[in-house]
This record gives sequence, structure tokens and C-alpha cells, in this order.
Amino acid sequence: MKLSTQLLIDGQFVTGDGQAEPILNPATGELIASVPEASFEQVNRAVNGAQRAFAQWSRTTPAQRSTLLLRLADAIERHAEEFAALESLNCGKPYLAVLNDELPAVVDCFRFFAGAARCLQGPLAGEYIEGHTSMIRRDPIGVVGSIAPWNYPLMMAAWKMAPVLAAGNTVVLKPSEQTPLTALRLAELASELFPRGVINIVCGRGESVGAPLVEHPLVRMVSLTGDIATGQKILQSAARTMKRTHLELGGKAPVIIFDDADLEAVVAGIRTFGFYNAGQDCTAACRIYAQGKIYDKFVAAMTDAVASIKVGGPREEGVEMGPLISDRQRNRVASFVERAQSSGHVEVTAGGKIRPGNGFFFEPTLIAHARQEDEIVRREVFGPVVSVTRFSDAEQVVQWANDSDYGLASSVWTRDLGLASKVASHLQYGCTWINTHFMLTSEMPHGGMKMSGYGKDLSLYALEDYTVPRHIMLKL
Ligand code: NAD
Repeated sequence: MKLSTQLLIDGQFVTGDGQAEPILNPATGELIASVPEASFEQVNRAVNGAQRAFAQWSRTTPAQRSTLLLRLADAIERHAEEFAALESLNCGKPYLAVLNDELPAVVDCFRFFAGAARCLQGPLAGEYIEGHTSMIRRDPIGVVGSIAPWNYPLMMAAWKMAPVLAAGNTVVLKPSEQTPLTALRLAELASELFPRGVINIVCGRGESVGAPLVEHPLVRMVSLTGDIATGQKILQSAARTMKRTHLELGGKAPVIIFDDADLEAVVAGIRTFGFYNAGQDCTAACRIYAQGKIYDKFVAAMTDAVASIKVGGPREEGVEMGPLISDRQRNRVASFVERAQSSGHVEVTAGGKIRPGNGFFFEPTLIAHARQEDEIVRREVFGPVVSVTRFSDAEQVVQWANDSDYGLASSVWTRDLGLASKVASHLQYGCTWINTHFMLTSEMPHGGMKMSGYGKDLSLYALEDYTVPRHIMLKL
């Protein structure tokens, strides 16, 4: 497989002048490649290139931008198997899951924003002061610095690039230092289609490459998907030059299971949505609240279901769950489980251990009898660990579910749709699913409340986030 390790800066493919970053295969721990990161000067060149390109790109018509986004979507689709192979190699994800779940979503994201670019709407022009006509424009903002995490590298690149470009902005994207490979391959396909400087990809660590990008005075907006602590640093830095920010931070999704829920569907749902991508998902169904009468049956059935998840390398027959991204992340997950166990009142009913051997595997884990005040209920683990807490009534569970720093995703499971709607209306989360979890679609917004951040990905809301409404007034 061909590995691209060069950065795309102002239309040129160049080797990074900074420190070489080792890229590991999480399923084996072996070195895949070494990607030299961008130097300060190279970040500067990328931003300046994006700024020069903005002058022309921002004046293209929506139809012109749409055409290029559609061509990029087609190119990704033609190379879907190659992208899936690269992504599963770099992240340890099951190959078929990347190919069948992630790649179609990536392609659809570019196609959606290609269409959306031509459909932005706003208020009517009119005479709000006598003798003067007012109209609203939605204009691009300028150079957007986009910073992505490691859990869905290509999908995050798509979520960040597609609306930014559709709106007429130019972009400097920094993938995670651990997972740059699919973004660098994407850069090659994109560079054949888009004008010089419109898309720039710089790799490297947060402090050495992300921070100078955020601080650059010509970057007008910063978008981050990442940790709350990173979001806080970016906000502080962005304040100095008054940049717009678009933040998608972590999550700790509450999953509320009422006594009358369809037990089989719930168990199948949590087995999938709690452990997909080894739980490294900010919407993962990880914080279960089960009502008193269903609680014991749920824990028993869920324990069997979790124990049956097939863990293995990306190409293993029937594999459902891969490794964690790094040894560090695995140790972090293991220490959460150890601390939970040390409380004395929880029971690890499935998994709970590091899998011996090569690769960064952790067993799919279910932790029963967790309490609202426990760390395992309150903090994001970002691994294959699901906790279960017993609740008595709707009022209590809504209060517990909302008693969280996070506000990204949630779900309610019951046959009583009136109850589900009522609970959904009281939850303080960017999304509430009813009798399912985790389902995303390009037309609907994805994003949080509270410390989960406030940027919306996907949907027309993302396009609005990456544009600025302007008032033009004409004296008649
Ligand atoms: P992270 O915050 O450590 O890193 C995210 C990105 O920020 C990386 O590219 C990193 O290099 C960069 N970065 C780090 N410090 C920086 C700095 N000072 N300045 C500029 N850039 C900096 O997060 P991660 O470990 O890669 O990803 C996991 C986190 O992302 C989890 O908390 C998860 O919940 C969150 N996440 C959120 C969503 C969402 O949609 N809300 C989606 C995926 C992941």
C-alpha cells in the first residue's frame, strides 16, 4: 500500500521540516511510517497560501464549489477500499466496518455540502427604513484552521473540510499526530481538483503545530474536535485575536432504559453503540441508567452480550472490535476500570482487563451497580467500558442524566412514546435518540451543549457556523 507522508502547503507537496512523528499500527504496536511534522514556518506558509487563495475561492459561485465537492466525493468513492485499508491500518479498526460504515458517510458528507452550498436561505430583502433597502448576505469568513482527533480521522477531515469549503472559506487542516495517513491521501486527491492553496494539510502535535495555527493572525476561525482541555486552551488563545471558534468536545452519553423497554432491542443496541470503534466515540452509549424492574434482567443479558463481542485485528474474520488507538489510551482506560473496582460497590460483570499480547487491546467491559457520584459515571473514558446505574423514576433519571459537564448525546428506551418525548424534551443534550442511539445523518446537526462545546457539524447549521450574516443597505 502506498503511504503518503508529505504535507500539502500552498499547492505543493512537501516533507515536514519538524520532528518526525512515529505512526503506529495499534493492532500490533509496530511502526507503519514516520511523518515529519510541519515547522512553524511551514504552518505560516500554509496559512498565507490559504489567505491568498481565499481572494478567488470566496468569489466562486456555489455551483462551482459544489461541482468540485462532488468530484472529490466521487474520487473518495473510487478509492474507498484504499482509504478503508489505510484507516484500519492506522486506527486498528475492523476493515469492513470502515469500508461499509465510515466511507459511505464520508462520501455523503461531501455530497450533502455540495448540495447545501446552493441552498442557503435567509430573510427577505426589504425596506425596513423608509427609502432604504436592506438585504442579508451570508459570506465566508476567511481562513479556517481545523484541528481533528484520532477516532475517525477521515470522517473528521470530511466534517471539517466540506462545510468550510462549501461556504467559500479556505482551510488549513491539522489531523491528529497519531492518525494523519488518510488525510494525507485525501490531500493528494483534493490537490488534483481544487485551486492551489484552498486546501492545506499540515501534520504534527498540538503544541508544535496546532498552537501556531490557532495563534496565526490570518486564521479567522478555528474549529476543533477534541478534548475539553484542548478546547479551553484554544479558546484562550483565540481570544487574543478574537477568532471565531467551533468546538466539538467530548461526551458521556446517558442511556435511559425504562422498565417497559424492549430488552432484546436494548441489549443489541448497547452491544453495538457502546462498543463501536472500541468505545472511542464521543456519543458512545456508555452511561446506562436502567429502571428498577428491568435492571437485573438487563445486566444479565448485557453481560452475556458484551462477553460475546469478537475482538481482534482489522482483517480477522468476523471481528467486531479492534484495539484502542495507543498504549497510553489503553492504560488510561485500564486505570478508570481499576479505580471503579476499588470503590468496592461496583461489579465488573464482563471484561475489565488488558488483553495480553501485541497491540493495544482492552476487553469489552461492563460495570454494574455504578452510582451517580462515581467517576466511571461522570468522566469520559473513551474506551470499551459501559457502566450501569439503577434508577427509580423519570424525574430522578432526568436529573441524573443532566447532572453532567457533558451535553452531546443521549438516548431513551421505552415503548411509551409519550414518556420518551417528555424525557427527551427535558434532557440537556445536543441529540436525544429514542429506542436507538448513535445514528447520524448528514442532514441533521451533530454537536453539544455545556462543556461538550457548541459547534454544529453536518447539516445546514454547520454551513451557517462557517459563514457570517452581513447586512447590506442601499439608499434608494
Ligand atoms: P485532543 O484534544 O488531545 O486532540 C485533538 C486535536 O487537538 C489533535 O489534533 C491534537 O494534536 C490537537 N491539539 C492538542 N493540543 C492542542 C493545542 N494546544 N493547540 C492546538 N491543537 C491542539 O483529543 P484526542 O485525544 O485526539 O481525541 C479524543 C477527544 O476528542 C475525546 O475527548 C473525544 O470525546 C473528543 N471528540 C469529540 C467529538 C465530538 O464530536 N464532540 C468527536 C470525536 C472526538
